[in-house]
Amino acid sequence: MDEQDTSTTEPIESAEPAESDEQKPVVLPETIVIKDFADKLGLPVTKIIAELMKSGIMSGQNERIDFDTASIVAQDFGFLATKEDAVGVSKDTELLEQATREEKGKMKPRPPVVVVMGHVDHGKTKLLDAIRKTDVVAQETGGITQRIGAYQIKEKNRLITFIDTPGHEAFSAMRSRGARVADVAILVVAADDGVKPQTKEALKIIKESNIPFVVAINKIDKPDADVKKVKKQLADLNIMPEDWGGNIVMAEISAKQNKGIKELLEVVLLVADLEKNSLKANPDRLAIGTIIESHVDPGEGPVATVVVQSGTLHKGDLITVGNVYGKVKALKNHYGESLIDVPPSAPAKIMGLKGAPLVGDILQAVKDLIDIKKRVKKYQMETRTAEPTLSVAQPESKDKPKNVKIVPVILKADTLGSLEALVGALQNIKNEEIEVKIIQQGLGNITEADVLAAETGKASLYGFNTLVSPAAEAVAKGKHIEPQIFKIIYDLVNDVRTKAEALLTPEIIRTDLGKLKVLAIFRTEHNAMIVGGQVTAGKATDDSLIQVLRNDEEIGKGKIVQLQSQKRAAKDVLSGSECGIKFAGPPVIAEGDTLVFYHEEIRRKTLG
Ligand code: GDP
Repeated sequence: MDEQDTSTTEPIESAEPAESDEQKPVVLPETIVIKDFADKLGLPVTKIIAELMKSGIMSGQNERIDFDTASIVAQDFGFLATKEDAVGVSKDTELLEQATREEKGKMKPRPPVVVVMGHVDHGKTKLLDAIRKTDVVAQETGGITQRIGAYQIKEKNRLITFIDTPGHEAFSAMRSRGARVADVAILVVAADDGVKPQTKEALKIIKESNIPFVVAINKIDKPDADVKKVKKQLADLNIMPEDWGGNIVMAEISAKQNKGIKELLEVVLLVADLEKNSLKANPDRLAIGTIIESHVDPGEGPVATVVVQSGTLHKGDLITVGNVYGKVKALKNHYGESLIDVPPSAPAKIMGLKGAPLVGDILQAVKDLIDIKKRVKKYQMETRTAEPTLSVAQPESKDKPKNVKIVPVILKADTLGSLEALVGALQNIKNEEIEVKIIQQGLGNITEADVLAAETGKASLYGFNTLVSPAAEAVAKGKHIEPQIFKIIYDLVNDVRTKAEALLTPEIIRTDLGKLKVLAIFRTEHNAMIVGGQVTAGKATDDSLIQVLRNDEEIGKGKIVQLQSQKRAAKDVLSGSECGIKFAGPPVIAEGDTLVFYHEEIRRKTLG
């Protein structure tokens, strides 16, 4: 019969099954931007996004997915995906070292690269602004600059590069990739606030990076500034000020009033001069550099900022960066001026990459595309832990303790650098009881899809330096979801930490107060008793909790609701005296039992 027609209607947005058993081969990299993925499969990007949505991945066309996710989607469209040989390099200081060894005779001095670190609000940004303003070029152009993650100034006719990254986490992320991008560090400590946790963290990073540093004691204009106290605190950490017989220069500055900035720069140059031998590079080779910032710009596409470490990067060069490659279409400095060449130690914004590389990735200029393949074989890409890609949630590992509480988080950020830094920091929030799980992450503003995903995953929704789209805001309001936007990594991480700590089972601290021997039972009710006895140790108080012991074993628990001594209400009754007690709890007490009086305090646990 006609009704037995078994044909089905193809859902409009569904993946098309392979027409034959034979699947079309497609080679995919470790991670791929969704738009490029659609191009590779020859499909409209909306189809890919719809397919991803079915797996719970809400994504935009400029976001990346990992190989595993991409291969599942590819299969749904009749493709058989294989992983591309790793293109590019990652943890590759070896490469830089090799460049240094190979070409001793061709080495020329290069400017120092400086990083500014310190506790939040101690004035890092203000100092970087003050330094930027000292530049002659800034004065000539009226000081209109763009933040590209690094800038270069001229002081006493010498160039200095400053890295202007969002926080220590970003610097750590770079370092974890093996990038030794800075030559000198400035540790900023506010004179009115002194050494704080992030000051110590910065010192640890500086020590591990093995770079020389100077201390800038900032905010000396403040009435409660206490330079001596800061020096004493640093001396206690074995950071001895030069004027106290140590070897660390401490410049006293006010970033706000522009005081001491020139002197600080002079000290930086002096410290750099002590490193003269390592501050050399061959400008005449193909460029090698480190990515310090990277994002997808809605107008310009993928853009990244590189600090060149060896060689010179030219407009038109073929480059590989991590698993991305491309041809340099344009190079710009922080004034937005186009550059033709970028010599060692100079920063530049690069346009022309096929995707956004990761912060800390090593950039290499190559002769030709065959050269890329050759280098690939030599420098296999390392597995990345905090890959900022969207992926299907991993199944729980079998040996993970079952009762670990999960703090689900959805994270959107403005740049890959900050996203990576945040992911790294959030993954550290864990103990045997709780764990932060980033169920979705990506670049750009918080969208309606993010809000819906937050609702489904019961997740906290965070944006870092992003906005909430008006549509997302409306949906969020209706669903009582509050996206939170932060501008400081430390604050966002702290917020998640507070949420995680609230899930920790509180600790109950018991303090024993005294004991009583039960001598008489006066009355027994459904859930209460009136008993009399003698306090044999400590005291009974009218707010005590009670543990009932028989032959040293607990037979019940309750509390005092009334305490009487000589027929009058009493606040407490001391050892040696007799008293009457109205006990609330199971009516189990018998003559001869011992009542133990105690208090309980509920203490919230922290993650340390
Ligand atoms: P960051 O978090 O370390 O980047 O700190 P910021 O540069 O954002 O500075 C934090 C706050 O301290 C801002 O309100 C600044 O205006 C202020 N600040 C920074 N440097 C100085 C200074 O030298 N003197 C005074 N009085 N305030 C300063």
